Amino acid sequence: MKFYYARAGNHFMHHYLPLAKFTFGMGDRFGHQGQAQLQACIRATELGAEIIPVWNKSKREHTFIGTEPSSLRVEADAAVKKLGWKKSYHVDADHIRLETVDRFIAPSDFFTIDVAESIGKSADGADVRAFADRHPELAGKVFIPNIDRPFAITRREVERVANKFLLAVQAAGKIYQHIAKAKGAENFITEVSMDETDSPQTPPELLIILAALADQKIPIQTIAPKFTGRFNKGVDYVGDVKQFEKEFNDQLAVIAFAIQKYGLPPSLKLSVHSGSDKFSIYEPMRKALKKFNAGVHIKTAGTTWLEELIGLAEAGGDGLEIAKEIYAYAMDHVGEFCAPYATVIDIDKAKLPPATVVNGWSSHQFTGALRHDQKNPAFNPSFRQLLHVSFKGAAKKGDRYYAALKKHEAVIAKNVTENLFERHMKPLLLE
Ligand SMILES: [Zn+2]
Repeated sequence: MKFYYARAGNHFMHHYLPLAKFTFGMGDRFGHQGQAQLQACIRATELGAEIIPVWNKSKREHTFIGTEPSSLRVEADAAVKKLGWKKSYHVDADHIRLETVDRFIAPSDFFTIDVAESIGKSADGADVRAFADRHPELAGKVFIPNIDRPFAITRREVERVANKFLLAVQAAGKIYQHIAKAKGAENFITEVSMDETDSPQTPPELLIILAALADQKIPIQTIAPKFTGRFNKGVDYVGDVKQFEKEFNDQLAVIAFAIQKYGLPPSLKLSVHSGSDKFSIYEPMRKALKKFNAGVHIKTAGTTWLEELIGLAEAGGDGLEIAKEIYAYAMDHVGEFCAPYATVIDIDKAKLPPATVVNGWSSHQFTGALRHDQKNPAFNPSFRQLLHVSFKGAAKKGDRYYAALKKHEAVIAKNVTENLFERHMKPLLLE
């Protein structure tokens, strides 16, 4: 299929693989839960919310587990075949950069281009001025439908924002061109991610970034900004929900506006990274998406690995045993496991039970502390976050871990599907 978009005044054509309105990014560290994850999409689709699965795995995850990017394609294809899924599905090269993209090109058809590293590095002064000259519409009062007050942006502000983001946008352009050359532009979806950076991007900044991405002729279909508040791994949103709601609405308005103004693909939508478990913002998100008739991409990577552990613990016997061993190993490696995730976890070390205590727990106690049920007084967010970043500990177990996944497949699959469907898809898109 070929799709085109034209830009007012100077028409140019672009091809891209179109992306559906509602998509769920699903991570599967150990590659055994593809079917259980797809089952959640099937349930949602049967109930009227068509959710297209996108399997994603980053270079870091592949390295920790010892897998190649092609293994994710094999898993996705097998799950789809086994369950007879007839709709589209995608394989996402998650957070790739120019140095890491190559091994992902053949097996992936969705690329999350990570340019966070270039954000904040000064762009070429002449490029910044040329950008501001090319976009006089961005300076002054910018009226955007569905935003109560027009943005008041000075030319200086346009240049400040351009200086901060232009290098990142140019980097995205280079990576996009590299993939397009190797793969053919019509064969993949492009996402640009800016979430792994220090400060959130405001709605006016998002508008300027989208104008710059359009200049690079990137047929971007999802963009992952850094939102206001903390998006910690595997736990609820921490921040001002009202403020988040306002910004989320404004960002949807900016996207709708930029699609028209800059001829970006009509399927362009927000991508919410670390989007799993953010229960307190799902309702405002659902309302906003409805109001704008907008789509969304929700990334839920690590939540599935935690369900794997919950399933093992729930199984009891050797399943519970291995879950306890993984926790004990995590407690011995807290510093090492937490370091790469410092900006996306908040662990209170005083709340981590000693391994000797956990070793005496029943299945019920272990799953109660780990499962994300905020109504359960036994739920322990620090315990959960530590295990979230400790999948390397499971990888160390090698074949024993994989054998346990096979042996306890049924109870694990039930937890994986229910978590995605009941706690995520339903409150976000079905209620
Ligand atoms: Zn991300």
